[in-house]
Amino acid sequence: MATVTEYDTITAISTPPGEGAISIVRLSGEQAVALANRVFRGADLTQVASHTLHYGHIIDPAAHEELDEVMVAVMRAPKTFTREDVVEINCHGGIVSTNRILQLLLAVGARMAEPGEFTKRAFLNGRIDLTQAESVMDLIRAKTDAAMKVALNQLDGNLEHLIKNLRQEILQVLAQVEVNIDYPEYDEEQLTAQMLREKAETVQQEISQLLATAGQGKILREGLATAIIGRPNVGKSSLLNYLLHEDKAIVTDVAGTTRDVLEEYVNVQGVPLKLIDTAGIHDTEDKVEKIGVARSKKALASADLIILVLNGSEPLTAADRELLQLTSQQKRIIVLNKADLQAVTTQTELTALGVTSAPLVVSVKDQAGLDRLETTIKTMFFGGIENQQKDILVSNNRQIGLLRQAQQALHDVLAGLDAGLPVDLVQIDMTNCWDKLGEITGESAPDELITQLFSQFCLGK
Ligand code: GDP
Ligand code: ZN
Repeated sequence: MATVTEYDTITAISTPPGEGAISIVRLSGEQAVALANRVFRGADLTQVASHTLHYGHIIDPAAHEELDEVMVAVMRAPKTFTREDVVEINCHGGIVSTNRILQLLLAVGARMAEPGEFTKRAFLNGRIDLTQAESVMDLIRAKTDAAMKVALNQLDGNLEHLIKNLRQEILQVLAQVEVNIDYPEYDEEQLTAQMLREKAETVQQEISQLLATAGQGKILREGLATAIIGRPNVGKSSLLNYLLHEDKAIVTDVAGTTRDVLEEYVNVQGVPLKLIDTAGIHDTEDKVEKIGVARSKKALASADLIILVLNGSEPLTAADRELLQLTSQQKRIIVLNKADLQAVTTQTELTALGVTSAPLVVSVKDQAGLDRLETTIKTMFFGGIENQQKDILVSNNRQIGLLRQAQQALHDVLAGLDAGLPVDLVQIDMTNCWDKLGEITGESAPDELITQLFSQFCLGK
């Protein structure tokens, strides 16, 4: 591992762009304190105790001009985010003045940080592992509380510990194989093969459990693609509006107005729903039924969950039957709306049509039964997770890909044993599995991968 002193001093604005009460300009590296001190008027920062905050002014030493009134935090290595000396200049905000401070620091010798470079240093200096670095990125992008929780958990190193334990177990068995190969007089080939098999099977099982969470993890990051469908006038817009109200709307995407499909995000008891084709709901207002059905068909293809709305106060129509038929193979919730009116369509009738799950009887108008709709969405979503460590979810494609490769390597181990291959050959696949798991935490990650990964971070992180 490279030592800290090899890195130059980097700087960037660490707060999001735009007007805020305060902006933070961050410096990290050997010269961080010295460079900050050159543009600061107040206490001599090179003499102050670590992890202290200092009031003063930023001045342009060339122009003798005062730029801003600031609070400067001095944090010396190694107890910092990057494990290097770190200085954070809390300025008064205003993008112009913050940028001038940044320019000033660049003028006195700091280098502009690349996107993610602070986090990259934390990784390179051994402060965090790759799963933790990735979770910093996830936190920046987290759309819901649940996604945030998963990211925080990874930041805590839960996935890291799990993977490290698996690697440790594999390493032990590999060491044992090594010993047995070196002392063949014990004739332990048979025993060694058995040991390899047992380990491969247990690790395989653990990886399967992790992979089983991948779907949920992905949904937490990207949202559960949900389509509200139904013929005109059953109450789709009303339901959509209900879901979008109560501060539940996370993002309303109106930027790309020319786009065919509008997406809106809502948070339903911690489950992020990405409502798809919400434009379609509005467009089909007062139009002939078949347009609604055609649009529904399009939305069906990309949906993880269908909410099919029926009007319980009217008899089923041909369009209703067609939509029931179309969605029969999908994850769906059937909502019988307008329960405040006289019931005409009943569960019995739906059952006769082959609908197995009970419909939810609601009245969007009276807001009755909608809690149950939310609970149902939540149960459908979280009910699928069969994992003792419910909080560890693998959610990013890189981790998922590597887990699959590790799984393949274990499959090769078992196939080799079944075919009666000598253990020193089988051992190669076991080592391969160990490598793939190591790439997840970054212990055996190639340099190029690391550079590419960290370039995805926001500037200043
Ligand atoms: P959409 O065409 O499927 O989007 O249906 P809308 O949401 O536009 O609703 C059609 C009509 O039904 C509107 O007049 C709503 O006020 C009404 N409506 C919606 N939900 C209910 C309900 O639960 N009970 C009653 N009585 N009317 C409702
Ligand atoms: Zn509508």
